[in-house]
Amino acid sequence: MLACRVAPAGFERGQLLLIADESSDLSAALAAATAAGLSISLRSVPSEELEKALERLHSDTLCSTAHSASNMVLREDAAPYHFSPRQHYVEMLVARALTLNASDIHVQPLFDALEIRMRVDGHLRGVEKMPSSSAASLVAQIKVLARLPLAEKRLPHDGRFSLTLEGRSVELRVSILPSIHGEAVVLRLGEDEAPLALDKLHMPGNVRRPVERLLLRKGGLFLVGGPTGSGKTTTLYALMRHLCEEGRKLISVEDPVERVIAGVNQVPVEQGGMGFGDAVRAMLRHSPDAILIGEIRDAPTAAAAAEAALTGHLVLASAHARDAVEVASRLMDLGVSAQVLSCVLEAALTQRLVRLLCPHCARPAVLPDSLCRALGLSSEDVQGCKEPVGCPHCAGSGYLGRRAIFGLVTASPAIRASISSGAGAHALRSLAQKEAMPSLRANAAALVKAGLTSAVEALASACLSHDAA
Ligand SMILES: [Zn+2]
Repeated sequence: MLACRVAPAGFERGQLLLIADESSDLSAALAAATAAGLSISLRSVPSEELEKALERLHSDTLCSTAHSASNMVLREDAAPYHFSPRQHYVEMLVARALTLNASDIHVQPLFDALEIRMRVDGHLRGVEKMPSSSAASLVAQIKVLARLPLAEKRLPHDGRFSLTLEGRSVELRVSILPSIHGEAVVLRLGEDEAPLALDKLHMPGNVRRPVERLLLRKGGLFLVGGPTGSGKTTTLYALMRHLCEEGRKLISVEDPVERVIAGVNQVPVEQGGMGFGDAVRAMLRHSPDAILIGEIRDAPTAAAAAEAALTGHLVLASAHARDAVEVASRLMDLGVSAQVLSCVLEAALTQRLVRLLCPHCARPAVLPDSLCRALGLSSEDVQGCKEPVGCPHCAGSGYLGRRAIFGLVTASPAIRASISSGAGAHALRSLAQKEAMPSLRANAAALVKAGLTSAVEALASACLSHDAA
């Protein structure tokens, strides 16, 4: 509505009345109304009157905009398109996702139905199938809430909105992707909560102690790696919070800023705007003690990160990599020389998320020798092992909640020498193993031993087919 310079002005003879002036984009407004199944009438008004109506529309909060639209439609039962039940349905979906502790909601149009699924503990779970005819109005309502163009159905687009449900504020990131059967929508949930304290990450002692020591340093590079969805952002936010509590001046550059942290100067990087590399150089002029780079994904960012670390700043950064060794070698792939990396690298942390067994239904298990060997556990170690069963508490999955497991490579003199001499990932992994550095495998095995997760889940989540550090 705002983009087309058209404003709603009530109902007239069962039709939604829209006001417009010469500058209005009537074709887009008509396309949007037709797509939503609305019957409309138009009235030309002076520009000042339209301007005032648009301002009112703009100043309304997201939800109240949707509510006022819903009230308007509901007073006229003849209108074929009902905002309110759909908004109610969006709220119900989000409430259900919160109950299930889901991370995202997937609205997928199929050939003959609309499928709603939710990702719980990293796994998709079917929630509901609706008739295809519901698709257009549900997607339209999500677009209204996220202020996305209703008429745009051919290009992918993203947005966000927030809802308050039973006193909880929920931030939702919306991603819309056109498909042959209609637009698919993914809603990612992020509760407006403070970042976790370091304690809540459940790092094993042999990871936690060196990490705390590293955070006291005045310079150097501390990398966090892992695949997408492995909880890197949660860890980085917990590290930032810890640094803030220590009274350090901290600036972060993120794409996008996912959670606001009091006391941190958070700089968003946007497409077409300032890049990570430029942002880091600008940040250095504000003399921070520590800087956080959301993700090192190109050569200028890698160079800026190394430069900042060399000039006495503690640099925390994430990089997309399978294990700790690969995180370090990723920087060399991005053009940082082996000599510079061997000087600035302090540590590389890697992580995965492992599903925890449902405490209501897990039962004792006997592990076959092959699984014990894969996890490096002896037959005495596996006395307390458990396996999933399934009950109403865990919706039959046998698992409830997740926890991160960690691997850490710290830059010992031997590791530095090895990086400097240009050793490959394989040699570095062997060296980390020889120096008994904390590994994903050992952390996963400890959870199995304690009966917190199953051996199969530990192996699958930790991707331990190779000797990941
Ligand atoms: Zn259960």
